[in-house]
Parts: sequence; C-alpha cells; structure tokens
Amino acid sequence: MKYFTQKNIWFLVFLICSRVDAAYGQGSIQVMLIDGQNNHSNMFDGSRFMKQVLEETGLFKVDIVTTPPAGGDMAAFRPDFSRYDVVLSNYNGDPWTEQTKLAFEQFVAGGGGLVVVHAADNAFPAWEAYNLMIGIGGWEGRDERSGPYLYFDEHKNEFVQDITSGKGGSHGVQHEFLVTTRDPQHPIMKGLPKEWLHQKDELYDRLRGPAKNVTVLATAHSTPETKGSGRHEPVLMTIRYGKGRVFHTTLGHENYSQKCVGFIATLQRGAEWAAKGKVTQPVPKDFPSKDRGAVR
Ligand code: ZN
Repeated sequence: MKYFTQKNIWFLVFLICSRVDAAYGQGSIQVMLIDGQNNHSNMFDGSRFMKQVLEETGLFKVDIVTTPPAGGDMAAFRPDFSRYDVVLSNYNGDPWTEQTKLAFEQFVAGGGGLVVVHAADNAFPAWEAYNLMIGIGGWEGRDERSGPYLYFDEHKNEFVQDITSGKGGSHGVQHEFLVTTRDPQHPIMKGLPKEWLHQKDELYDRLRGPAKNVTVLATAHSTPETKGSGRHEPVLMTIRYGKGRVFHTTLGHENYSQKCVGFIATLQRGAEWAAKGKVTQPVPKDFPSKDRGAVR
C-alpha cells in the first residue's frame, strides 16, 4: 500500500484534473471560421463577432481563415481541416478546388463538425456533398431540381417535403419574428423557451435541397404580410453527414440580427453540439422570451 502515500494521491488528482482540463478546458474546441467571399457586406464584422461570442464561452478557440477574393486564385485556398473540430462557414462565393472540396468532404464525413450560417447556405449549388451537408439551401439557381421544399405544416403537425416545381430560396422584408422550437429535447434546444422573439432579420423561405438526415429544431412563420411564403420555415436545423454533425442556422443577415441573444446562444450551443455531440452551456439569463427580444 506504500504507493498510496498522500503525496502520490495528490499527484494522481493533479494528473486527472489536468487531463480533464485538456479535454474540456479553455478553448479546447478548435474552430476554423471560413470567410473571404459573401454577398453580405458585413461579412468581416460577422466573422469577428462570431469569433468573439464563441470564444467568450471559454469552450472554443477560433481561427478565421479568409479565402482569396471573388475571381481570385482559389488554388491558394488549401486549409488543413484535420487540425480542427469544427468548421464554421460564413462563406458564399466561388467554388473551391476539387482538392479542397474532397478534403472538406472527408473532414465532415469522418466526424468533423460544421456550422452553416445564413448565406453560407446559398453557396455551392452544384456541389452534391455540400448540399447533403446543409440539407437545404437557396438561390444561385436552386429550384425543384435541387430537391424538395421543406416546411412545417402546422395543421398536420408534420414536416412536408414538397416536390412541386418552384424556385429555391427567397425572403420577404426584414422584420422581428417569433422562432418556435420543434424539437425541445434536442441538446441544442433543451431549456430554451418554446417561442422567442428574434431581432430584425431576413426570414429565409422556400429553401430546397436533398433534405436527407435533417432534423429541424426550430421554425418561424413567414407571413404574407411581410411578403413571405405563408409557411412555417426551418430556421435552425441539424444534419447528419457520414459521421459528421452539422448545425445550420438561416438566421444572421445583418449585425443587428446577429446581436440577438437567441442567435448568439443557439450559435454557441450549435457549435458545441457539432463538435462534441452534446451541450454543456447553460441557457443564458437574458435569453429572449415570446414578448421581449434581447440583444448584446
Ligand atoms: Zn441576408
């Protein structure tokens, strides 16, 4: 029993704690945030803001990786995905090289996490694997050939995959809207209010894609009064691609949209889930309610 001296036991406790800290401590989740091309002029503001809100949880270390500008030499964009747990895409632009696309597919299929924010779901209409990862997307020529239009039918209380022809992706005028939880038991949504008021944003509608292995976590009603679709549109989703986990938020058009505590907290929680398959973060005390929005 001589090994169990007080000194040895304390050393053992120290060893275990340091291992736990290495696994779950400060900034242990490595995030590659990709930007460089986007039809949103606030792209760099958004990248800085998302890096800040992820890192302030203490869970993430975010590296911003910027591609060449539109029309630039994309051969120069060859990031090493293998050093990261999660890729966050704030990118909507030129196709990547076949080599980079393949590396990205292998990263996600092999168990890497992916977070898709707003116009990142407009990107790459012709890249089959990417569209499987995002589930549904919009614009850039998407239509019924891209896959079904996925929405929630409140009367039937079920999701519909509408295969009738039509364009993929549109939105009405920006406004504040209610977000409704559709999967309250999912780790990302657990403890969040059933409904909460989101800040002024574009409410994407009529998104289309393969819509395979998609779990819609939350929807928002796109009303005819705001020139919307009249449907309950997916705004927060998870998608399974191989062994990889994808969190897709259609929210976050402008800086004022991203400052919503609902956008921030679901991004933080979604990124952790994409990396680890679980969420350890408490629901923030200033999370919006049905009647009261909240910004930071
Ligand atoms: Zn937008």
